[in-house]
Amino acid sequence: MGPARRGAGARTGQAMNEFSIDILKTPKGMLAVGLFAFGVIGLIVSLTTGGRATPTVSYPYWCNKCHAVYDISELNANKAANWRVPEDAPSDSIAICIKCNEGWAYPAPACPVCGTHHILHIDGDGRCPVCYPEVAAAAKEKGITLIPDELK
Ligand SMILES: [Zn+2]
Ligand SMILES: [Zn+2]
Repeated sequence: MGPARRGAGARTGQAMNEFSIDILKTPKGMLAVGLFAFGVIGLIVSLTTGGRATPTVSYPYWCNKCHAVYDISELNANKAANWRVPEDAPSDSIAICIKCNEGWAYPAPACPVCGTHHILHIDGDGRCPVCYPEVAAAAKEKGITLIPDELK
């Protein structure tokens, strides 16, 4: 019984070796094709975005004190001087306003669904108050402005 079992085991092992080598060949081939495709896509992307060294980030900031509205590119124009994150700010996307040097400037990007600009990080709920009326209702109850007149 013993030798027979060993023999069967050896045959099975050999069969498995052949099987795994065949399997290995295929993923390697697929990996090569995949890497090539990835390289081509990367080349196309770099060609289509060529010329722009850094992606342009553009959306308004709104100050809760002077109510100034200005583009994030104004803050980014001089990052070292302009990005002054208040110590107790809930997010490092908030900066001391570069207009009044007192208020907090909040990001107000457009909702990807309805396009409404609304203030982020001001009530801890980043959802759009137009798409989610419950967010608007909760903010109103707390007296928080999510869509300031200056951004309408
Ligand atoms: Zn201000
Ligand atoms: Zn929305």
